[in-house]
Amino acid sequence: MSGQYAPRAETIVDLDALRHNVALLAERAKVPVMAVVKADGYGHGAVPIAKAALEAGATWLGACSAVEALTLREAGIEAPILAWLYGPGEDLSDAIAAGVDLGVSSMDELRAAEGAAIHLKIDTGLNRNGCPPEEWPELVRAARDHNVRAIWSHFASADEPGDPSVDRQAERFEQAYEIAVAEGLKPMRHISNSAATLTRPDLAYDMVRVGIAMYGLNPVPQQEDLRPVMTFRSSVASVKRTRAGEGVSYGLTWIAQQDTTLALVPVGYGDGVPRGLSGKLEVFVAGHRRPVVGRVCMDQIVVDCGDDKVRPGDEVILFGPGDRGEPTAREWADNLGTIDYEIVTNMYRPRVVRRYV
Ligand code: PLP
Repeated sequence: MSGQYAPRAETIVDLDALRHNVALLAERAKVPVMAVVKADGYGHGAVPIAKAALEAGATWLGACSAVEALTLREAGIEAPILAWLYGPGEDLSDAIAAGVDLGVSSMDELRAAEGAAIHLKIDTGLNRNGCPPEEWPELVRAARDHNVRAIWSHFASADEPGDPSVDRQAERFEQAYEIAVAEGLKPMRHISNSAATLTRPDLAYDMVRVGIAMYGLNPVPQQEDLRPVMTFRSSVASVKRTRAGEGVSYGLTWIAQQDTTLALVPVGYGDGVPRGLSGKLEVFVAGHRRPVVGRVCMDQIVVDCGDDKVRPGDEVILFGPGDRGEPTAREWADNLGTIDYEIVTNMYRPRVVRRYV
């Protein structure tokens, strides 16, 4: 039966926009760029994103897990890949055999990564993974007879320009590097994410690791020429007139104040439209922004189109770049009290078809 239904909803992934963003970030960084494609390329599809990023000038790929890294290798991608998060007892042999570099934050991880090129991670203040400074000299010493490609770290608050933690972390990073050099290592260094790449080019060191800005979502307040890569669209399934006084959707939380045209759109929280946006969501339909009324359901939403002429099949944009006036992923995030990273990453869903343009 599958394949007989028209897609309910699609994410359109604009690879030209992605290439534009990668080129902008590479130009800004002036050092090699690692394209971070974890979580299935922040919901955009890791393999097509990785290939497009490499075409546009990225030279490294960043994955979270070894499995994610292997997915890239299985797609024929030969570029260097760093994978940085794995659990105790995880079998890393396939990743090591496939030439995946591994992040190492502890003596246990050093043992697990035996045979891989490694990137030693110092915790400079994020206090997530990374080797605590007290244990760093021991780790560095033990790593001397391994292939140590890099030392690296991750910023906590680079998206708040001027936050003193950035310089504090950079200082600790340099101290950790000096310890590694004193032990005879001469690794490359990388610490910057998108926000630091855009605001602190002085901290680019030997490579930057960019995620969100590559997807066209700007993590910093300053204006940047980034082009959002993902558009989430559907189309009108049916249209009807409703009389003043009628309520809409579960709980009848919205009541029509006058006769109006309601458009049914076949997407709901089962397709990535958060129910928490009920009462706060607008969509772009037939060239106008229109409110979604009543509660978001699992499979459908209802749009109040007033007296607009709307027909079944009309395109509905749920979020997009915003240049036509349509809502953006940032707008969803602001309304939900979250970040746009979460919005796009959540769009990896079986019911939503991805289309690359
Ligand atoms: N480096 C690491 C270790 C990360 O976990 C991430 C993403 O969270 C990135 C780089 C990229 O960060 P951003 O998407 O903010 O550029």
